Amino acid sequence: SGSLTVGELAEKLNKDSSEIIKKLMFLGVMATKNQDLDADSIELICEEFGVEVEEEVVVDDTDIENMTFDDDPEDLKERPAVVTIMGHVDHGKTTLLDRIRDTKVTEGEAGGITQHIGAYQVEEDGKKITFLDTPGHAAFTSMRSRGAQVTDIAILVVAADDGVMPQTKEAISHAKAAGVPIIVAVNKMDKEGANPDRVMQELMEYELIAEDYGGETIFVKMSAVKGEGIDELLEMIVLISEMEEFKANPDRPAYGTVIEAELDKGRGPVATLLVQNGTLNVSDSIVVGNTFGRVRAMVNDLGRRVKVAGPSTPVEITGLNNVPQAGDRFLVFEDEKKARSVGEARAQRQLEENRSATAKVSLDDLFEQI
Ligand code: GDP
Ligand code: MG
Repeated sequence: SGSLTVGELAEKLNKDSSEIIKKLMFLGVMATKNQDLDADSIELICEEFGVEVEEEVVVDDTDIENMTFDDDPEDLKERPAVVTIMGHVDHGKTTLLDRIRDTKVTEGEAGGITQHIGAYQVEEDGKKITFLDTPGHAAFTSMRSRGAQVTDIAILVVAADDGVMPQTKEAISHAKAAGVPIIVAVNKMDKEGANPDRVMQELMEYELIAEDYGGETIFVKMSAVKGEGIDELLEMIVLISEMEEFKANPDRPAYGTVIEAELDKGRGPVATLLVQNGTLNVSDSIVVGNTFGRVRAMVNDLGRRVKVAGPSTPVEITGLNNVPQAGDRFLVFEDEKKARSVGEARAQRQLEENRSATAKVSLDDLFEQI
């Protein structure tokens, strides 16, 4: 920590130097205005003036949000695209997500009990695709505002009988801000009054220009209710995945983002994680947002217990001390003690942050140089 002179402390406390010197005299310390004060003296004086000084918390400063990881390009392997479905309310997002899941996931899954974990994977042309089941806007706004980018491709659902609406525009701006490719799903083609050309024309204003109009944006005409156009949509996702070459290194400790989390009566804190890089294993030591723990059990999107989860895989875990938040980052530490110290420091820091709602002067503030 730093130090302050009598004069500097006086200024911080909005007092006259002579008042500080007098207090110091009472404490048996003879001091001048330019004298350096140690932390103990500063704290004593603050107490004398009724200013509460926060305890300095020793934090492990491992910043899991902003850590960068350099993977050797040779270690990078293809990974599934992570797709979010966005669009105006009632244009068919949920119907489309359910339809994809019903037609693709339960296919051949004996007993296929699909459990809702906020994300699922399907296979098309031998390639996996991960769909985030959380409302697209929430996924973008809450997660992106916290620095997490989880989506590789955005599907923009626009009802052919309704056209571009306010949340359509919002979705476009989120996807553009994130810099992810957009595929337009012109839905409800089965409806009377469906007018896909109008949708294409309206979207030109947002630089989403269909090939028919000389642009490069992929438009898929479909009906989520009738199941028409689903295969073409999935094929287009695969096509974009191949063009973009999404990659990750499966041979490193996992990190990624929390998709959903809740407190389960029987199982304790339960979190759905999207592994973005590396491989997550049962019994890994993990820091998740402001909590930590050891992965006790992992369940995949089919409700099956798994021991490993590679890049782009959504998985539900138990074993955390507390419930994290959607959008929180997670990071596995090979050293369990390190995970604990980082996790405890982050939990402590959050506690402090919550507490400091009441205005206090921190030693850091006092030591801040002018
Ligand atoms: P969301 O708000 O975007 O999730 O929209 P929903 O999936 O809940 O769909 C809103 C309504 O539109 C529901 O009544 C759906 O059955 C209906 N719907 C969705 N897709 C289609 C479609 O392709 N054709 C028709 N006719 N109705 C659809
Ligand atoms: Mg919905």
